[in-house]
Amino acid sequence: TKWVHAFGGGSSEGDADMRDLLGGKGANLAEMAKLGLPVPPGFTITTEVCVAYYANNKTWPSDLEAQIEAALGALEATTDKKFGDPANPLLVSVRSGARASMPGMMDTVLNLGLNDETAAGLAELAGDKRFAYDSYRRFIQMYSDVVLGLDHSIFEEILETFKEERDYMLDTELSADDWVEIVGEYKRAAAEALGRDFPSDPREQLQGAIRAVFDSWMTARAIKYRQLHDIPESWGTAVNVQAMVFGNMGETSATGVAFTRNPSTGENSYYGEFLINAQGEDVVAGIRTPQCLTQSMREEMGDTQPSMQEALPDSYDELARVFDILERHYRDMQDIEFTVERGRLWMLQTRNGKRTAKAALKIAVDLASEGLITEEEAVMRVDPSQLDQLLHPMIAEDARRDVLATGLPASPGAAAGVVVFDSDDAEARAAKGDPVILVRIETSPEDIHGMHAAEGIVTARGGMTSHAAVVARGMGRPCVSGAGSIRIDYATKQFTAGGRTVKEGDFVTIDGATGEVLSGEVKMIQPEVTGDFARLMEWADKVRRMKVRTNAETPADVKTARDFGAEGIGLCRTEHMFFDADRIAAVREMILSDAKEGRVAALAKILPMQRSDFEAIFEIMEDRPCTIRLLDPPLHEFLPHTEEDVHAVAEATGLSAAALMERAGALAESNPMLGHRGCRLGISFPEIYEMQARAIFEAQVNVEKKTGIKPVAEVMIPLVAMPKELAILKAAVAKVAAEVEAESGKAPEYLIGTMIELPRAALRADEIAEEAEFFSFGTNDLTQTTFGLSRDDAGKFMPDYIEQGIFEKDPFVTLDQSGVGDLVRIAAERGRGTRNGLKLGICGEHGGDPASIHFCDSVGLDYVSCSPYRVPVARLAAAQAAL
Ligand code: ADP
Ligand code: MG
Ligand code: MG
Repeated sequence: TKWVHAFGGGSSEGDADMRDLLGGKGANLAEMAKLGLPVPPGFTITTEVCVAYYANNKTWPSDLEAQIEAALGALEATTDKKFGDPANPLLVSVRSGARASMPGMMDTVLNLGLNDETAAGLAELAGDKRFAYDSYRRFIQMYSDVVLGLDHSIFEEILETFKEERDYMLDTELSADDWVEIVGEYKRAAAEALGRDFPSDPREQLQGAIRAVFDSWMTARAIKYRQLHDIPESWGTAVNVQAMVFGNMGETSATGVAFTRNPSTGENSYYGEFLINAQGEDVVAGIRTPQCLTQSMREEMGDTQPSMQEALPDSYDELARVFDILERHYRDMQDIEFTVERGRLWMLQTRNGKRTAKAALKIAVDLASEGLITEEEAVMRVDPSQLDQLLHPMIAEDARRDVLATGLPASPGAAAGVVVFDSDDAEARAAKGDPVILVRIETSPEDIHGMHAAEGIVTARGGMTSHAAVVARGMGRPCVSGAGSIRIDYATKQFTAGGRTVKEGDFVTIDGATGEVLSGEVKMIQPEVTGDFARLMEWADKVRRMKVRTNAETPADVKTARDFGAEGIGLCRTEHMFFDADRIAAVREMILSDAKEGRVAALAKILPMQRSDFEAIFEIMEDRPCTIRLLDPPLHEFLPHTEEDVHAVAEATGLSAAALMERAGALAESNPMLGHRGCRLGISFPEIYEMQARAIFEAQVNVEKKTGIKPVAEVMIPLVAMPKELAILKAAVAKVAAEVEAESGKAPEYLIGTMIELPRAALRADEIAEEAEFFSFGTNDLTQTTFGLSRDDAGKFMPDYIEQGIFEKDPFVTLDQSGVGDLVRIAAERGRGTRNGLKLGICGEHGGDPASIHFCDSVGLDYVSCSPYRVPVARLAAAQAAL
């Protein structure tokens, strides 16, 4: 097997299409080299080696080392340097690179190949001793940390003490000889901690680094990152070994990261940061404050340091030329890493840049307008789940902004919550239901879980490309980074800003669009679909096959869903209307009466209220179909819970509190989820469904009389298992419709159908479709009943199931396509076998989940229905499913 693929130096064995084998970084390095761009040469060890490594008890294939040796020989030839040769040393970086980018999650070692001899040789050759020993000390520190597992603080302490003793403030004040001394101390400290000498043989160093990259695939933080981003463990990582280029060779050398468009707003202008006389990691590490890439960016930010455009104009022009080549070639915004070595530009990485939802929309729409991609490609470019970011509240324009501090607008959206200073605390408090804002001096990969748990993130240090900023944007969390005026004291759990103190547990609000941290909980406004968002949605609507409806019952929610483009209601849960303060008393009266007459009397009080609810819904939805589910939950859910409740009902009904309690006890069930609920209530107490049917039909007639528009109702009978249940209830509902028609002279337009939420119903869908005029898959209950798994109790063990890989994902979030999905597929086929063109939809939570929406498209459902705020997400996902 070919385990090693070379790139650069005039030819490349790989290209961008070989991402699975070479990882994203390796594939794109090869591609850039093929395009003739300046890429330091090197070679990529494939992901297959990583897979083999883990399959064979962490040993790599026996013929790997010979292949590496050969590739190294070729690299020596192209660079005209020799690995380990003091006279002319070849130094390399050893870099991880998986198929999907996992920024900062895995390890990289720079300047590998240095030892006392090669460092002296490098100093000689470069004519710059300071540079050589700066590289050497970086290498010892990085290698010790990444490969040898030593704590990097031992090196930091040495450097700090050294500087203190000499009254140095900055690293730049250290002379060449100072670095030589530091290197000596570093090596001594490493040897002491290791119990053996720091490895000086370059080949041993190389093997160690390659192993460390493979090992970094399974670190806790990499595993967590993969879980959050759905990256399979089986992919493995590639390893890139690449000739070093040096950004730390003085004032005409530099290193930086850049985006070809603004990743936060999507604006079509270059965007990035760089540092003069520095190496790769310095920019992201936040040790020095990076400088802006362009002059306009610098002016906008009011930065006093010169931009790259001003400080290194020739290299900047060259970089801009490369940007254009890359964008045209990849037809997408690129995120790149570069280094300038003594005035010469080198490209070290390119990838499609991560971006906020806002930027994703703008870039997709712009690229289509620029003719680089088609409208359909633009539709495919935006991740539907990411739209969620834009569908969150933002701070109201007229809200009072009591600004505590201002940092960088690192990730948009607004969030309010209580301040916590530690990621574990963030997770703990969020688990209790508190919204939290995580406030850190800076974040590191160890903070991933806290950032995920938080509503928003604030850091005191770090730029727009800092860890916090990049990760927050990826997760869709609002983030303010580099709020320099915030002084955080982890020990006392408080921060001060502008003379004010904020303690753990105090409320703050952050605005990721402006970079402001505000005191207290500030008023927010609801999002809208306008501009680029609306444009892309139009394109999506053109191509999708499935309709998108909403699950909603209050007029406010129905209105919101309409504004977001809902084409009907897929699920109106009538019982939600039973809880309102003005009717719960009548509902309880109905439940607690033990004779039919009592129930009928109580239901008569509820009828006008339900009718007016339905009228409001029909008026908003006009002639769009509205699926209304008749009463589903077990009756005891409406029973009085507190003593106060009991007395109130006693007063209203004239029954004694004791009698009430007794009736409540009689209604209690040991397993209500499988008890007297859904159509079973309708079978026992037909008067309830008759009242609801009457409310629906009368509402239709009234709205038609008032507006001239004919509402369309789909009356849905829940929890049907047997065709006969449906037959009985359908007849009862149809009878009410006929009565309403006779009374009003108007025929309500309606269908009667059922929810498919029991395995039996799915399997016997052919018989059920004899009666049902539509099916709606209630995949929440169908998941519960298929797995025999109570959603309300699953939280206790679901984490174990995810962790141990039994469930790849929570089946209540993403449809279990192979099991529950099979039932959906079977029911769809059998149902349509009986009734050609039977209308099919889904109204479970899954109707708003992009992966599940793809599945729904594949089995031919007519529509999906989801919560109002997810309607745009579903519109886009449905379009992508159709393409
Ligand atoms: P990450 O995935 O964490 O970004 P990388 O492998 O891309 O890790 O490298 C980390 C840093 O080191 C980057 O800034 C990169 O540009 C720099 N770097 C990597 N290889 C080289 C090299 N051969 N010469 C100079 N700098 C390098
Ligand atoms: Mg990188
Ligand atoms: Mg249900």
